[in-house]
Amino acid sequence: MKLTIIGCSGSFPGPDSPSSCYLLEAEGFRMLLDFGNGALGALQRHIGLYDVDAICLSHLHADHCLDMCPYHVVRTYSPVGPLPKVPVYGPSDARRRLNSAYAMPDEPSLDTAFDFVELTPGTFEVGPFEVTAALMNHPVETYGFRVSHGGRSVAYSGDTGESAELVKLASGADVFLCEASHLDRPDLPSGLHLSGRQAAEHAARADVETLVLTHLVPWNDSDRVLEEARGGGFGGRMELARSGAGYDLG
Ligand SMILES: [Zn+2]
Ligand SMILES: [Zn+2]
Repeated sequence: MKLTIIGCSGSFPGPDSPSSCYLLEAEGFRMLLDFGNGALGALQRHIGLYDVDAICLSHLHADHCLDMCPYHVVRTYSPVGPLPKVPVYGPSDARRRLNSAYAMPDEPSLDTAFDFVELTPGTFEVGPFEVTAALMNHPVETYGFRVSHGGRSVAYSGDTGESAELVKLASGADVFLCEASHLDRPDLPSGLHLSGRQAAEHAARADVETLVLTHLVPWNDSDRVLEEARGGGFGGRMELARSGAGYDLG
């Protein structure tokens, strides 16, 4: 399994990264975790335009799903089409909300390009991957994911505040993509996002191999997020996410 970070910018794209999008590849199958704004451009540096086989959406905030709209255009109007529908695993309202975002009344809906599947917490198979979805602690229906293949696992927090479910989901993962949206301060809002320190505390409790701090918001100093994470009691490898970074998981 190979992981490539396509977009790791939190809440909106930054100068060096699109919003959230992670590519997982195994046995020639290619799956995206989230498809935030700007990701479709950077994705084409790593795979062909038509090569997405499945998509999992953590939640329906714009920075995690909006490039579904331009990707509908790619698959519906491409000169090489028609292309097979891509299964999209997302929150219960994903089909209606994304169709409403696209909102071109005289054109085909996103159903020409995608097969929407409603997520519920649990484990299911997508191509060669075993995927576990768990509800996170965020103001809208939000899932974290654990993707396993060949005995290796990648866990992804989506957006979340502090969460025992996240610790369970990430337990023993080889790579833990954990959001670190906040700079640390005493009055952090609950049920929204994590700071670097809190991300590291979750990584320590989950006993993961490598912590990758992601969903880095451009108005913060990322080096400070990393510095604060060093105070979270995690003894494993820890680094900042970077668009284009790859992780080979055997
Ligand atoms: Zn977000
Ligand atoms: Zn969000």
